[in-house]
Amino acid sequence: MRDVQDVLSRLRRSPFRSGIRLQKKELEYLRNKGMEEVLQHAADFIQKRLASANPANDGKQTPWHNHPAFVAQHATATCCRGCLQKWHQIPKGRALTEEELQYIIELIGTWLSQERDAAEKRKTGYTGHTS
Ligand SMILES: [Zn+2]
Repeated sequence: MRDVQDVLSRLRRSPFRSGIRLQKKELEYLRNKGMEEVLQHAADFIQKRLASANPANDGKQTPWHNHPAFVAQHATATCCRGCLQKWHQIPKGRALTEEELQYIIELIGTWLSQERDAAEKRKTGYTGHTS
């Protein structure tokens, strides 16, 4: 199976993908709702917008803002079937498997926790040298 950390480090080398950040509102939403609930929403979005063999409006089905999961989908290239094929070798034209759905949620969850931690460090002025 695909390796989440490996894929995330490839994504970080893409100027486009690595430039995608959570905005203040989306970070607050993540803090207020908690990771578990946000990932439940993510699973729901993926199920409705991406999981079928031929999703409606493929390539345009994922908004850019207003939910942390949407932002994470763009950052992790799990926003449409084209990106899933290009970045994750998940072929278009067939429904996603349960294993692929779990992989996508894991990617989104890992990216969101990294974003949340990075934002915390910016806020507290943490530099990595506290002593
Ligand atoms: Zn896409």
